[in-house]
Amino acid sequence: MSKRDYYEVLGVSKSASKDEIKKAYRKLSKKYHPDINKEPDAAEKFKEIAEAYEVLSDDQKKAHYDQFGHTDPNQGFGGFGGGSDFGGFGGFEDIFNTFFGGGGGGSRRRDPNAPRQGADLQYNMTISFEEAAFGKEAEIEIPREETCSTCHGSGAKPGTKPETCRHCNGSGQVSVEQNTPFGRIVNRRTCHNCNGTGKEIKQKCSTCGGSGRIKKRSKIQVKIPAGIDDGQQLRMSGKGEAGINGGPAGDLYIVFHVRPHEFFQRMDDDIYCETPITFVQAALGDEIEVPTLHGKVKLKIPAGTQTGKKFRLKEKGVPNVRGFGIGDQYVTVQIVTPTKLSDKQKQLLKEFAELSGSAPMGEHEETLFSKFKRAFKGE
Ligand SMILES: [Zn+2]
Ligand SMILES: [Zn+2]
Repeated sequence: MSKRDYYEVLGVSKSASKDEIKKAYRKLSKKYHPDINKEPDAAEKFKEIAEAYEVLSDDQKKAHYDQFGHTDPNQGFGGFGGGSDFGGFGGFEDIFNTFFGGGGGGSRRRDPNAPRQGADLQYNMTISFEEAAFGKEAEIEIPREETCSTCHGSGAKPGTKPETCRHCNGSGQVSVEQNTPFGRIVNRRTCHNCNGTGKEIKQKCSTCGGSGRIKKRSKIQVKIPAGIDDGQQLRMSGKGEAGINGGPAGDLYIVFHVRPHEFFQRMDDDIYCETPITFVQAALGDEIEVPTLHGKVKLKIPAGTQTGKKFRLKEKGVPNVRGFGIGDQYVTVQIVTPTKLSDKQKQLLKEFAELSGSAPMGEHEETLFSKFKRAFKGE
């Protein structure tokens, strides 16, 4: 069946104003609303009218339709556009309620007994720098809703069963007739007798009070993966809140907060640190010990090392959380100038200075020194 022109559906001209379009829609939607009009093709007509109004009342969609009509291959206005499936009566009701201001959100009819997934939970976990690097097993306690073990989620006292609600015959909703300026309209409301569950529990389970669910503090074992970093999260499937009507449980997300280390800094899988050395070690060279996450490591300082020089210790960083190898550790040496010198030390340094002249030695320093001198001359 080919689609009718939207203007034709609403019975307005192409030059109709917004008001005229709105008026035409109100009139027709009232006439063909499936709760009022019991003719067999009323629902189909109502759908057609709603769709036409959806497009023609929206400036952007209207302009699009005026230009391309029904033939535009890119059609699809957010799931409600030309030719898309309404997915049952819920669609009408939603537009109807939005338009007439009735009911509001959440009025979409759904099977109250359909299985639904439980809620996801989030747990914030603070761990040390080392725990993040090497992982660990931890036990956490979270408050969550679980299926009541006394009634197995039915909410009924053991030996009894929930019965179908007499008020709504199990649909969870009741029809309410309402007089409006457009005539008598039938609205659907959540059944107050069963609160929309469609079930009536005559004898409630004493453990959960009839809800079928129970709030409990549950202990959960968490395997913190080696290499996890600050802000990363771990998803534990099915460890969230219990499902409803036999639906699957939600997930538990553990968000890690890693405490900073006083000596190490981490960037991805690499670790950075600064190590002090004396100017004698820097000048003459030495072998020093550097702490790493994997224990002490010997580091050779070559003679003539400048302050700020960075050394790499291969694979002394953090294991990659996805198992792609292991990071490195970078050690930046800082030469510490002595502040307390004995008379003997001072004497030796003076002798050293006389031997060296006033300029520092070494190629790198020479260029720096000549720049320094030039700056004084204002060159
Ligand atoms: Zn129970
Ligand atoms: Zn009911």
